[in-house]
Order: sequence, then structure tokens, then C-alpha cells
Amino acid sequence: MGNSTDVLIIGAGPSGTAAASWLAKQGHTVTVLERAVFPRFVIGESLLPLSMGHWEETGQLPALMEQGYEVKNGASFFRDGKEFDLAFAENYTQGWTWTWQVPRDHFDNILAQEAQRMGADIRFGHEVLRVDLGHPEGVEVVTRHNGQEHHFTGRFLIDSSGYGGTLARLLNLHDKPAGNGRMALFAHVRESDAHRARYPDPMRISFEVLARDLWFWSIPFSDGRTSLGFVGHNAHFTEALALGDEAASMRHMIKLSKVFGDRYADVEFVHGPQRISEYTHHNADLTGERYVLTGNCAGFLDPVFSSGVAFATESGLLAAKLLHRQLKGDAVDWKAEYEAHIKHGTEVFRTYVETWYDGDLQEIFFAGDVEQSHKERIVSVLAGYVWDRSNPYVSKHDRAVRALAQSIRLLRAERSKTAQHQAQNDKQ
Ligand SMILES: Cc1cc2nc3c(=O)[nH]c(=O)nc-3n(C[C@H](O)[C@H](O)[C@H](O)COP(=O)(O)OP(=O)(O)OC[C@H]3O[C@@H](n4cnc5c(N)ncnc54)[C@H](O)[C@@H]3O)c2cc1C
Repeated sequence: MGNSTDVLIIGAGPSGTAAASWLAKQGHTVTVLERAVFPRFVIGESLLPLSMGHWEETGQLPALMEQGYEVKNGASFFRDGKEFDLAFAENYTQGWTWTWQVPRDHFDNILAQEAQRMGADIRFGHEVLRVDLGHPEGVEVVTRHNGQEHHFTGRFLIDSSGYGGTLARLLNLHDKPAGNGRMALFAHVRESDAHRARYPDPMRISFEVLARDLWFWSIPFSDGRTSLGFVGHNAHFTEALALGDEAASMRHMIKLSKVFGDRYADVEFVHGPQRISEYTHHNADLTGERYVLTGNCAGFLDPVFSSGVAFATESGLLAAKLLHRQLKGDAVDWKAEYEAHIKHGTEVFRTYVETWYDGDLQEIFFAGDVEQSHKERIVSVLAGYVWDRSNPYVSKHDRAVRALAQSIRLLRAERSKTAQHQAQNDKQ
């Protein structure tokens, strides 16, 4: 069976469908090869405002707007009795100030339906087995569907296969696990409205720091499910995992939460609990003569700031725009125009992930009285606007975050010295 198309895409997640929708809208023929039959489970439910602009451009936004997903206009962070409320409206960079928290099985299915509506041909249940980048037509991809092999050809291949990293695996690309020693344990639970109503601000997306490198997420969805997850160094899970089964491990971890331990003590699991280890990886080369890697295939750092889907849509859309130019006969410098762009964004987020786990960013979050102009610039980064180089927390990300944390520590030390002096003077 032969199928010929302009563009072949592996994977119908947010990255693949962003690229497929945009290219199909420009009139290109696009075939998406997707291993799963949708709806399928995938983790990554806290979105960033940056993606909203992408879905506006791809044309997928109006359908998403109709689904009644829970609006996310910020997030709450808790640690040792302190709370930091991040509001996307306090944003230095002009752009979207809200987004959603979504069950990805439903959400990705809508994204895929919209890509189809725009003309993309999505073949569900097709697992990519082999890729030939030397084919006379450009690229040949072989899939397995219902036990049979199918052949597809195209002029260019976009690999958006997420954690599958299909091309990296098949072509032995330099895809490196970063080995940070962390894992995630997560589940979906069901909560009744009455149960939710017993707690303050029950639909608020929240993160609780349990130790410097262990945190918990609570992401309630509008359909009555809630996503719960723990991310941290493997050592924090030793006791829980020794209990043998994942449900017992998850309940053990839930008891550690001071803020949510009561709310989630007896809830019913409707997916998982499930474990993922060593999810961090990066790819040295994101492009080749006839292919580009987008979304999670290109690399993934850490879930802490919910950047995965934002990077997936940013890279999928950018790859589509560059490919459109190339298919029209223009020259595209993929290294400069694509790879450097994506890697810059990754480097900015890397600083925020690293300074979160080494404590500097947590220092800023829980300081309580960070100057508004600094706060707005940091919020912009956490809304996904990591390509706005007019923001010093983007252009000088590493130095800016560390310098602010240091100034907060110095100020605190000074204040405590003054308080001690004051106490001594009061005594005399
Ligand atoms: C613990 C954890 C928590 C996370 N939380 C968040 C979060 O809150 N917010 C956020 O933005 N991100 C989060 N992420 C990251 C997020 O899951 C991903 O970044 C995001 O799903 C990437 O989208 P994608 O389109 O690149 O890939 P995916 O959404 O993974 O889609 C890839 C698709 O490719 C298909 N595929 C794979 N291999 C093949 C093959 N051989 N043939 C055909 N099809 C194939 C898959 O079936 C899949 O449908 C989290 C990640 C982890 C590990």
C-alpha cells in the first residue's frame, strides 16, 4: 500500500498536531502517523499562556475554547506554611495571561480532530517501525497497523513522537539522557463536587514543596478528575516504593503533604498510579537535511514549570513555518533559524529548573516581598515567554536569578541583625 504526501509527521501530540494544522492550512498535504488510538493517556496537564497564541495561529483555539476546560490564570506554591501566588496577569511581556489545566486524553483528541478538520490525514494505530531518509521521493516511513506493514513517502519528515524519540532511536542520533536521579509518581483521582467544596479554592492548580528536591502537584480538572503527582530525587521515594504496589506508594506519599494530605487521603484512583524515571534528555542535533525533531523529541528538562507543551507547540509551529518556506523553494538555515531558537529557550528554562532544585528560585518565590518589577519579569518567563530578550530575566537569566536570590538572602541577614540589636537595646 503506498501513500505519498508533502510532509510526514510522527506523533499526534500537541507538537505534531500544531505542525500538521498549520501546514494543512497553507495547502500542503500532511500525513500524521500515530501509534496510539485516541483518546490516549499522556502526562503534562498544566499548560502555559504561550501556547494559546500558537493555537490561535494554527486555528485549533476556537474548538478548545468550547470545551469548558478549567481556566489557569496562575498557580499557588506552598512551602513550610508560606504561600506564593503566581498570577500570569502580572506579566512583563505582552501576551496571553491565562491558559487551561487539562486532561490530556480529551485535550489532545480535540487538537487532533482540529488538525483533521484543517485537512491533515491522521493515521491512528500506526506505529513507525523504520525510516529511510535516502528515498528518491525524500523520506520513506514504514508503519505497522493491525499486524501489517504500510509504506508512506513524503518530501520531509517532522518527528513529534514525544518520549518515543522515534528518529533518535532508529537513526542512533545523539539523544542523551541527562541522568538527574529524579523520578515522578502520579495518578488521576476522582473527586465529587461536594468533596471539593470542603476545601478552600479547590480548583486552584497548586504545587507544594515537601523538601528542596521533592514537590507535589495538584491539578483539578473541570470533568471531576484531579491529577496528583510527586517529583523528586529517587531517595525520597525509597520508603514509599518499598511498600510494593504503586497505589500503596502513592498513598504513603500523599500523607507527606501538609496542605493536601487530608483532601486526597481516601480518593479513588482512576488512572495509575504510574511511575516515570529518567525523563530528562536532550538531543544535540535537532535537524537534518530531510527531518526536524520537535516537542519532547528535541529534549525535555523537568515538569516543575510546566514548559513541556509550550515547547511542543513553539517548536511544532516554528518547524511548520520554516518548512513551508522550504517547500516553496526558499533556503532555510535550520541550524540558525530553528535549532538555535529552541536551544535558547531550553537554556533559559534550564536556569529556572536548576535554580529551583538548588534553592535559589525557591528563595525568591517564598521571600514574600520581591519588588514588583522583578516579579513581573520572572512571571513572564514562567508563562513561557522565554524568547523576549528585552526581559533581563531572559537575556541574563542565570546571573539575574542568582543575583536576586543573593540580594534577598543579604537583606534577610541584615534584617535579622537589626532585629537582634533592637532586642538587645530593648533589654538594656
Ligand atoms: C512527570 C511529568 C509531568 C509533566 N507535566 C507537564 C505539565 O504539567 N505541563 C507541560 O506542559 N508538560 C508537562 N510534561 C511534559 C509533557 O508531557 C510533554 O512535554 C508533552 O506531552 C510533549 O508533547 P509532544 O507533542 O512533544 O509529545 P507527546 O504528547 O508525547 O505526543 C507524542 C505522540 O507520538 C506518538 N508516538 C510515539 N512513538 C511513536 C511511533 N514509533 N510511531 C507513531 N507514533 C508514535 C505517541 O503515541 C504520542 O501520541 C510532564 C512530563 C513529565 C515526565
